Amino acid sequence: MSGETRAAPLYCPYCGEEDLRPNETGPGAWECHACARVFTVRFTGLLSRGVQR
Ligand SMILES: [Zn+2]
Repeated sequence: MSGETRAAPLYCPYCGEEDLRPNETGPGAWECHACARVFTVRFTGLLSRGVQR
């Protein structure tokens, strides 16, 4: 189970509800049971210059 970056969204990016379940279409796919949208969370990369606060 290591070597794969999993990101679990806390809120639906479309309606803002928290009723999210993993979707069977693939890794990173989530379905919102509030608005019935299915979306994918994907790790794109890191900022090359890091994060400055
Ligand atoms: Zn939603």
